[in-house]
Amino acid sequence: MTSYSLFLLPGDGIGPEVMVEVEKVIGVFEADGSARFDLDHGLVGGSAYDAHGVPISDADMAKAQAADAVLLAAVGGPKWDGVPYEVRPENGLLRLRKDMQLYANLRPAICYPALADASSLKRELIDGLDLVIVRELTGGVYFGEPKQIIDLGNGQKRGIDTQVYDTYEIERIGRVAFELARQRDHRLVSSEKRNVMLSGVLWNEVITALGKRDYPDVALEHHLADSLGMQLVRRPKQFDVIVTDNLFGDMLSDVAAMLTGSIGMLPSASLGDVDPRTGRRKALYEPVHGSAPDIAGRGLANPIAMIGSLAMAMRYTFDRADLADRIEAAIAGVLAKGLRTADIKGDAATHISTSEMGDAIVAELTA
Ligand code: NAD
Repeated sequence: MTSYSLFLLPGDGIGPEVMVEVEKVIGVFEADGSARFDLDHGLVGGSAYDAHGVPISDADMAKAQAADAVLLAAVGGPKWDGVPYEVRPENGLLRLRKDMQLYANLRPAICYPALADASSLKRELIDGLDLVIVRELTGGVYFGEPKQIIDLGNGQKRGIDTQVYDTYEIERIGRVAFELARQRDHRLVSSEKRNVMLSGVLWNEVITALGKRDYPDVALEHHLADSLGMQLVRRPKQFDVIVTDNLFGDMLSDVAAMLTGSIGMLPSASLGDVDPRTGRRKALYEPVHGSAPDIAGRGLANPIAMIGSLAMAMRYTFDRADLADRIEAAIAGVLAKGLRTADIKGDAATHISTSEMGDAIVAELTA
């Protein structure tokens, strides 16, 4: 059996606490013979700065590039507020994204039935929600030139950002989304504002042509981004995979994610090009949440987003939907039993610790 190489970067704050729980799940799969893993550990963020004076060392960067997938927990915290700007903890994450050229951000929004009442929407609208937003991460208005504030000399200034997309950028994010749709329900919604933006007209043309040419088996629809925003809060379960640009993706993925309750529940993936050496896309999996310094070291962190990130790695890097399904079913099972960490406690009287949640998921996996 081939081993899956995973490079683990626990980072700072609650990062190491939640990463330990992921290793327990990996231990289950190793023990029952479902998979073999080749694990390595590195430092990122403040912990790397403390050890090496940089937020990720060249040696760890090389290991990240060589691994099948990187699993990162979180970086940052007040301890490093005073460090020089160019070596602040967040730069470790930015370097990983830049050097690995991770241009596709996958943000799932899954609502476990046991948590449906925690949503701001009515239970029937949200119960069983399972969609993924694919956001373009390295182009568009956040990076386009010119980008400046100019003094007009008459007491006025002008702020300029430029939305730019080239064909190749739209095509490569489109491919990630179509391939994802193939792994799921063969349905894709593409979103832009072609009614008022020429970059949206091009986006629409390129995605349409790509679908016709290479993915005729995927049903493609186009929604204007503003109308998609409305639909996401009106009837979110109509969607399966959504692809959109950097700006709209930033907003729409936060809207979709927050429909589902706590930030401690949400995993994400960032993908790049296929590495010819391995045949797999460059990939980094991480929870949406940060290092939560306010609760670090107190056993209060919810490890589900981190464990869900492993499930995404199994599904999207290793094509092991069977193991991803097992992890997600175990999480659902634990929640259905009423077990909760503090952040998702709701009206329940008691809550369990980070490691108790990890143990409960392990028990569910081995039951
Ligand atoms: P945060 O996500 O760390 O925390 C926001 C709130 O959610 C806090 O009250 C926290 O206790 C809670 N929370 C977060 N994750 C949780 C979990 N797993 N279980 C239970 N509760 C959880 O965001 P923040 O407070 O804005 O930032 C804290 C630090 O994290 C900062 O240094 C920030 O720069 C960094 N950060 C890192 C990342 C990353 O590594 N990708 C992302 C966001 C923020």
